[in-house]
Amino acid sequence: MIDKLPLPCLAKSDIVIAGAGPAGLSAAIAAARQGFQVLLLEQTGALGGMATSGLVPMFAPSSDGIRVLYGGIFPEIHEEMCRRMKCDVNNGWQIINAEILKYLLDEKICAEKNIKVFFNVKVCEAEVTDGRINALLCATSQGLKRVEGKQFIDATGDGLLAMLAGAEFQYGDSDGNTQAPTMCCQYSNIDYEKEAEAAKKGIYPHTCWYELLKTNTAPLMEHHLACVKRTSPGTSVTNYGHVYGADTLDESGLTECYFEGRRQAHIFEEFFRTKVPGYENAELVNTAALMGIRETRRIVGEYQLTANDYFSRADFEDEIGRCSYPVDRHAATKDATAQNAALIDLAASKYQKGESYGIPYRVMIPKGLKNLLVPGRALSADQIAQASVRIMPACFVTGQAAGIAAGLADNGDVRDISMKELQTRLVSIGAIIGKQG
Ligand SMILES: Cc1cc2nc3c(=O)[nH]c(=O)nc-3n(C[C@H](O)[C@H](O)[C@H](O)COP(=O)(O)OP(=O)(O)OC[C@H]3O[C@@H](n4cnc5c(N)ncnc54)[C@H](O)[C@@H]3O)c2cc1C
Repeated sequence: MIDKLPLPCLAKSDIVIAGAGPAGLSAAIAAARQGFQVLLLEQTGALGGMATSGLVPMFAPSSDGIRVLYGGIFPEIHEEMCRRMKCDVNNGWQIINAEILKYLLDEKICAEKNIKVFFNVKVCEAEVTDGRINALLCATSQGLKRVEGKQFIDATGDGLLAMLAGAEFQYGDSDGNTQAPTMCCQYSNIDYEKEAEAAKKGIYPHTCWYELLKTNTAPLMEHHLACVKRTSPGTSVTNYGHVYGADTLDESGLTECYFEGRRQAHIFEEFFRTKVPGYENAELVNTAALMGIRETRRIVGEYQLTANDYFSRADFEDEIGRCSYPVDRHAATKDATAQNAALIDLAASKYQKGESYGIPYRVMIPKGLKNLLVPGRALSADQIAQASVRIMPACFVTGQAAGIAAGLADNGDVRDISMKELQTRLVSIGAIIGKQG
């Protein structure tokens, strides 16, 4: 946090958003469609965050088993992606074709006249006076530049802008351990007919891996393989492996994490080729440009979403949307018991059809700051609730609410907006609010 930045101005806007993942994107689109001017700053060269540059292979289910829960911007993008992928819209786990999604998002953002996007711009400092952010300092290809705004949205996933502006945050469990990250990877040249034949006999990539674990011959101590999914003809994407013990907020820790993620990708390539029917000629063709980080800072907000809220299926007066995804808290350590416990907790926490919990607006308001909202995976939640609300469809939901709320706050404090007005506008774009919403 610094007082004044004497730098050239890159741009000014009503609303400035840092990060263009699911939360930042939906904030930008929702705000722009309500007539607010938006500036979207993204450090990579693509929109979509984990869904594109992170190569995460699937959107979590968009339905609570009865109704589509994450209404608004998410279904619009989901349905358009399916149309372009020439597949049916699936309200369960939805496979993502990252290149189709990337281009679709380019087109969508460019069609919004109230949004200006800058790629390869990294937010790296905030100028704050009396709890108000006046400007950001950004690293650009021409050096440091200043960006001014009335309202700011931190959609970096890491709560970076909130931290720079002086917000408090929490990190990990009581010992400071966070869920381990994963580098998602793309493999080509798979014989899907042979894979399907093996599946009829109960042989899958993960069962082949578990055989190696049983005989102590697995090349990595990994008990939790999330998925390998066919994302386009001839190509599958893995969410396999974890980098245990990584501190992804530390420059060296994060760098080591990329090295280790790519090392594991090659280990899995060898495993596929030698052990999995149909994968004999599999080839690693791409490792994700962005490390798959599940959890870093969680802001201390005006309200903290808790495990109790998850298990009691809580409702809130200031609800902005709902979530029904279970507690998917990946282990922090190599320990096999911890890894297996994560899978048991995931299964045990699953809701019945039609059940969900509310997400209150206050979880996006960092204590002590007047013009910042934090949607997405860094919002105010304990580690258990974060392990549910971090899924992409829920990040779209918090993002769109942050975008509209920031517009309504104008020059004021994000706490002072009319909740009724925010909820009315959210419902008008399709958001689900309340158990019966
Ligand atoms: C390995 C893995 C597997 C997952 N699997 C699933 C799944 O199957 N289904 C599901 O629905 N969810 C899944 N998730 C969860 C989900 O992908 C994330 O929680 C979600 O994408 C978070 O959205 P976000 O917008 O908050 O952040 P992100 O998607 O992380 O986007 C943040 C964006 O901000 C940008 N950024 C960061 N810092 C700066 C800066 N200083 N300046 C400018 N830009 C910046 C980043 O480049 C990025 O584009 C998974 C996550 C991981 C890591």
